[in-house]
Amino acid sequence: MTTPVAAPPDRRSAVGEQRVLPYAHQVVEGADIEAVVRVLRSEWLTTGPEVERFEAEVGAYVGARYAVAFTSGTAALHAAVAAAGVGPGDEGITTPLTFCATANCVLFVGARPVFADVDDATLTIDPQAIKGRITRKTKVVIPMDYGGHPADVDAIHALAKRHGLLVIEDACHALGAEYRGRRVGSLSDITVFSFHPVKQITTGEGGMAVTNDATLAKRLQRFRNHGVVRSARDQVRRPWYYEIIELGYNYRMPDILCALGRSQLVRLAQNLARRRTIAERYTEAFSALPGIRTPCVKPDVVPAWHLYPIRVEASAIGLTRDELVRRLRQGHIATSVHYIPLTRHPYYRERFGFQAGDYPVAEGAFRQLISLPLFHGMSDHDVEDVIEAMSRILALGHRHPRRSHHAALLAHGSAH
Ligand SMILES: *Cc1c(COP(=O)(O)O)cnc(C)c1O
Repeated sequence: MTTPVAAPPDRRSAVGEQRVLPYAHQVVEGADIEAVVRVLRSEWLTTGPEVERFEAEVGAYVGARYAVAFTSGTAALHAAVAAAGVGPGDEGITTPLTFCATANCVLFVGARPVFADVDDATLTIDPQAIKGRITRKTKVVIPMDYGGHPADVDAIHALAKRHGLLVIEDACHALGAEYRGRRVGSLSDITVFSFHPVKQITTGEGGMAVTNDATLAKRLQRFRNHGVVRSARDQVRRPWYYEIIELGYNYRMPDILCALGRSQLVRLAQNLARRRTIAERYTEAFSALPGIRTPCVKPDVVPAWHLYPIRVEASAIGLTRDELVRRLRQGHIATSVHYIPLTRHPYYRERFGFQAGDYPVAEGAFRQLISLPLFHGMSDHDVEDVIEAMSRILALGHRHPRRSHHAALLAHGSAH
């Protein structure tokens, strides 16, 4: 194995000062850099042979016939919603507990995002809640594989089939995850992945939309390249000729980044295994702690462990979630919160009039969620540091019953 050149540096410097452990971090190795340099010295910087190779490799890995690379996961979601034929007057149903791009893509095409609450166990969209949101305007359902745990896609597909809807799976957390023996990417009409640095593999920025449908694949490719089409016959007779048949964008992923993606893809299985090992160690350490709820793993899935989100019950641990975040940070451990429900952000709240309490499961989870550090470049030492810090902070919380009461009051009062 080559030396990781951009893994997080040793957290203890020579003078003994401690650096912060990030909640997520990329790993870039020498082979990745060589792959990029090779392309920089080649004929093609963009739209060359590396794009097609990267697409073919990701498609084969996830079990999809067609794969179309994009400049980001967000661009791929935009193209997916457009390819599904969603437009003004239509509605797309998605989860409030997600990154904004999952719902923004519906707005990009002039349609309306409609939210359905999440399932309390997996925090993925609840098929029962989707049922109540379907109208004559609904065109697509966009589940998101929260934390790397696949949404209940069989139940979602059954609903979609009954109502003639397409399913676009936002699998930006879930490259490499499995659902009932099948890999995420082979399940939905279109599935979208991201290669942002916090994900299982990275290209800096980048994304991919995959499908088994030839027509959808064509539309994805066209949307990525200004809505341009060229016929095979014209390629021979007049190679300068093309037609713009719809409004498209420049969402093309450069060869430089596809070469990086291909090099990273070689280590995907290894990255996933490391993430799983860390998650299992955390679960072993935390599942018996009162007031801590470790992530649920349904027996029929293999998660890709993008995140390790725990839920903390302030009254049981004697600390609010926010106080736990602060204490961990004092111990040089960074965490994050996934997510502030989209319906609580000013843009969505003001534009659509959402009220606190509209999505009780997502909002209740949000108040308790904290994502502990989880990335494939973490050392065993880093993992034990997190476990030790958590145990220390939680033990202190319990030792002060009066503070515990105060913290419980704070927790109830701090719901937005
Ligand atoms: C990362 C991510 C995206 C896409 O992000 P990009 O930064 O545009 O690649 C979309 N949805 C979710 C849930 C994500 O986590």
